[in-house]
Parts: sequence; C-alpha cells; structure tokens
Amino acid sequence: MNTISQKYFDIGECIYCHKKECKLTTEHVIPFALDGTLTLRNSCCENCRAITSKCERNPLNENWAEVRACLDYPSRKRNFENEDFKLEVVLRNGNKETLSLKKSEILGITQFLEYGLPTILTNQISQNGITVRGVSTFGFGVNLDEFIEKHNIKQFSYSAKYKQNFFETMLAKIAYGFVIACWGTECFEECFVLPSILRKTDNIGLWVGCDFEEKILPKIGIQNGKNILKLGIFEPAKSDKQLIIVRLKFFANTATPEYLVVVGTLNKEFKK
Ligand SMILES: [Zn+2]
Repeated sequence: MNTISQKYFDIGECIYCHKKECKLTTEHVIPFALDGTLTLRNSCCENCRAITSKCERNPLNENWAEVRACLDYPSRKRNFENEDFKLEVVLRNGNKETLSLKKSEILGITQFLEYGLPTILTNQISQNGITVRGVSTFGFGVNLDEFIEKHNIKQFSYSAKYKQNFFETMLAKIAYGFVIACWGTECFEECFVLPSILRKTDNIGLWVGCDFEEKILPKIGIQNGKNILKLGIFEPAKSDKQLIIVRLKFFANTATPEYLVVVGTLNKEFKK
C-alpha cells in the first residue's frame, strides 16, 4: 500500500461552516482520546466545536473508556490510573456484587457496531438513520477465564450504549477531516457528510457503513498512531461521479471492524 502524508496543516477557516472572521481552534482528525496525532490548525469555530465534539463523547467516554484505559490512551479529563471501574456481577454463591476495579484488573470489554455498505453504494431505497447488521465484542484487558476464576463469578453482562448515531457521526467527522488534511478543502465538488456532522440531517446511513467483502479499497493509506486511515476515489459503474471514500479502523492490531465513509464527490478541476 502506498502511504499518504498530511499536506494541509493550517486551514484558516472553519472546515464545517467556512467562517473565517472568528476565533478558530485546532481540530484533531482522529480524536486526541484515541491517540490521534493528525491535527488541522485554525480549522474549527466555537459554534461548530460545540456541535461536533458532542458526537465524540458517547463513543469515547461511555463505550470505549475501559478500552482507552487498557491501551494507555491519553485523556484530558480523566486519570485512568486513579479511577475505579465498576462491574456488576452475580457470584457463584448467588449474591449480587458490584466489583470496583483498578485499570490493571479490568476486562476492557467493548462492542463494535457492524453495518452493510453505505446505502449510496447500493440499490436499496435510501433511508434515514443507519441499520446495525451485527455487533462484535472485544476485550482489551485481563484474560476472561482468569477474571471469572479470581472473582468467583457466575455471570455478568455487558452491553455498549451507542445512541443517537453519535458513533456514526464521529466516523463521518474523522473521514472528512482526513480528506482535508490530505487534499484540502478545494477537493470537493460536493461534500455529502457535512450536514450529518452538523446534525442538520438524519441520513448518516447513506454515507457511513462497512464493506466486509472489500469491494471498495482505497489505494493510499496511513497509520496514524494506533489507528489506520485510507483515502481514495471510487467510480461507481454507470456514473461519471468520482466518490471520495475513506476507510478507517481503530485499534490497528486487532480484528475490530473497518468502517467506510463516502465523504463526497471529487471536484474535477482538482489535482491531487
Ligand atoms: Zn464553524
């Protein structure tokens, strides 16, 4: 695979609302909380930051906090070393108990949502929202059998609480930021994902999904910290459009699903 490197560092306008005459802050393409190191300086106004940062809280702080702790990812607000992680269990003697665990003792379980292709790439009727096709569960901490033995556990349950398409919106936001880091803001003829990122529309399933059959493989990629991003162009049959697509995968050395985002169409005047 060819690698692509970041070309655009200082943007000088809000990449979401295109305002220039306002205070602009630095945007992390992959969130800082996932060890992302690609940044776009002067690229986000305060209004848009308030909207776009909201989509990251649910996946990162509610569903992936234990994973981030196990993998020693950074956190601005939390100190995982001192945190007590709670787990409700039923013990072998039948008693219910809430375990209070240190970072080194946790299972670090989380669930990853799996989807079909973004519906813009299928012949299905477009729909609002997104359909979850499956869920895969991964543990990033201590061994499950040893954990059960050590704490005399009969049963416990875990279910991630993904809500309001925040996770899918975060995928779209990362993909959009990555396109701009590599090709700048001029590369778009049309950007599909922007209204979803700004929470103005409820059609994220058109642009975000998975591609388990690997029909759409961008040719250029980059590993940024512990995450993988790939960017490319896809030309659907019977269309003169060139779609800008990004594949992304978190936690690079694991079997977690890879996500696909159709970010927009390529401006034909644009030279990569
Ligand atoms: Zn803005």
